[in-house]
This record gives sequence, C-alpha cells and structure tokens, in this order.
Amino acid sequence: MEVTQLAALLKYVDVLDSGAVLLGRIYEVDGFGKRLVRVITHVHYDHIVGLNESIIHSSAIVATQATIDLLLELGYVRGKYRSIFKNKVVPLPYNKEVEFMDEKIRLIPARHIIGACQVLVEVDGYKIGYTGDFKLGGETEIMRGLDVLVIESTYGDPKYRRPFKDDIEELFVDQVSNLLRRGPVIIYGYHGKLQEAMRILRKYGVNEPFLMPERVYRVTRIAEKHGYEIGEYYNLRTNKGYMIKNSGRYIMFQHMSRAKYRKLNGDYYHVILSGWEFNDPIKKLDPYSWLVALSDHADFDELVEYVEQAQPKLVIVEAGRQGEPYKLAAQLKAKGFRTLVLPGPKVIDDVFE
Ligand SMILES: [Zn+2]
Repeated sequence: MEVTQLAALLKYVDVLDSGAVLLGRIYEVDGFGKRLVRVITHVHYDHIVGLNESIIHSSAIVATQATIDLLLELGYVRGKYRSIFKNKVVPLPYNKEVEFMDEKIRLIPARHIIGACQVLVEVDGYKIGYTGDFKLGGETEIMRGLDVLVIESTYGDPKYRRPFKDDIEELFVDQVSNLLRRGPVIIYGYHGKLQEAMRILRKYGVNEPFLMPERVYRVTRIAEKHGYEIGEYYNLRTNKGYMIKNSGRYIMFQHMSRAKYRKLNGDYYHVILSGWEFNDPIKKLDPYSWLVALSDHADFDELVEYVEQAQPKLVIVEAGRQGEPYKLAAQLKAKGFRTLVLPGPKVIDDVFE
C-alpha cells in the first residue's frame, strides 16, 4: 500500500487523549469524541469513560446485551442519564452486522470479561478493527483482512511475558483444591474476573458451593444469564448463604478491594487474582495467602501473535489508556508491520524503515 493510500486511511481512525477510539466518521469507542454512535467494548472503568457525555450527545449507544445488563446492574449509569441511555442503547449480538449512516459495524467476540467485544467497522470500502481488551484463545476471534487494526497495549513491553499462561488455569484449580482441604477459601478479584474464575473452577470439576456478597452475586447472575456455567452459588446474606457458611465447606468470592482487609488467623485461606505477575504463576504472600497470576489481558507475546495472525495493512497501537504502546510499536515495526502510536503525530513516512 502506498503512502498516500495509508494517509487516506488515517482519516478514518484516531485515538483521543481521553481514550476514545474513533473509527470511521461516526463511531466513538470506549470514550467520548462528539460522534454520532458510542460503542462500549466492556464494562471496565477505563472503557466507560465519558459515558454520560456520550449518553447526552450521541444518537445511539451500541454494546452487547451482557455489557448493557452489567452497566445497569453495577450502577454505572445513574440518575437522569439512565432513562436516556435506555432510549438510545442498541443491543447488538456478536457478529451481527448493522449500519448507521452507510457505515457498517459488527461486534466480534473477545475473551476478556463477560460481554467483552472487539469492534469491526466498514467505511468507504475500508475495514477497520479495534481489539478492545482481550487475551488469545477461547472466544477471541482474530480479525483478518483489515486495512487498519487498532490494538490495546496493556502488556506491550517484552518484559511482560507469562511463560506459564497455558497452565495457569490448572495451577489455579490445584491451588484452590489443595487449600479447600484445609478450610474455606476466599478468592479476590475484580468484577468479571471473579466470574471467569468461577467458570474455570467448575470446568475443572470443583463443585463446592460458591458464596458471595450481593454485588458479586448480581454480576454472577448476569454471567449465568449469558451462558456461564456457574452451578451452585449463593448470596452471603440469605438464609441459605448463612447455612453454607456455617457448614465450613465453600469458596467465597470477594471484590479485590476487600483483599487488604483479609484476616490472617487461619479461619480462611486467601487467593488473590492478579494480572501483574510474570515470574511465578503462584506466589505465597504469607502463611494464609497466595497470589495467582490469572490475567484477563494478552501478554506481550499474545499481542504480537494477534498482529502476526491478523496481518493488517496498518497497525495503530492505542495509547489512550495505561499500557506500553511505544515498546509494543517498536517491536511490531521491527517485525515489518507499518505501525503508528495514537494519540500522537500522524506521520506516515516513519512507518517505512
Ligand atoms: Zn478491560
């Protein structure tokens, strides 16, 4: 592709400092950009920034039904915004194509948290895709044949490699199973990741009942509604939940914010789920607590692998939120991909080296 053609492509894509990814002429994804249609890839806080502005200014808000359910259930859309949101929101199933103002859009499955998607836009014959947050495997479909791929860069530094990533699920299940023999286990993580952990435990045959506080319970109910197999799970503050707690044989799930208040007295064993661990899959923190490196993001190798499989004509590394965009871009350039970091100067010639 010639430089002039690449320059033409850049009219259809931008990333704002706020984190908004602008695709085509009318779409803003995961941030506010004064566009006609707001798209939400998933409910992590750094992807719902500017949602209230979008609710006021946009004509339509596009997301998967699971994401919409979570936004409402977790109280991320409040007060006067709630009714406007409900009027403008367009639930879009995965891989179903719709069109706004002659620009096609499709939500592509992504393995990250419940409801997560990638975004594929077709405008004036160009295909432009944004990965949102993802990790490889599972539901993640690689978008091939793109003119432009916008990719996340959370773990874009080559030092962020998890060599144990293919084994981490089994290691996690083994750790929890071993601890269960000693007493009840409490697992800490963020919304979405907790439900992934539940799904993994069930997949590997762990059948202890799950206990959880109200908010985690409500998110789990949505996960179940959208196809997660969670089996027996109970709200901590119900009679049944109380009975199970008294039985002493259960796994409890708590939001990450509770981890720092955990009691280290041997009544419970604690498992903390963290993406920021690269050396050991499981690390002992104290006699009663372990950190498990269960991440919902691609590590450096997976980011590169996505691009290598997708073979887009141009890669835009998204630098609108926390990550290592410049290191990832340098590595992709070294592998021969035409790569730009946005926000940043839209300078085309330096992509040829
Ligand atoms: Zn995320």
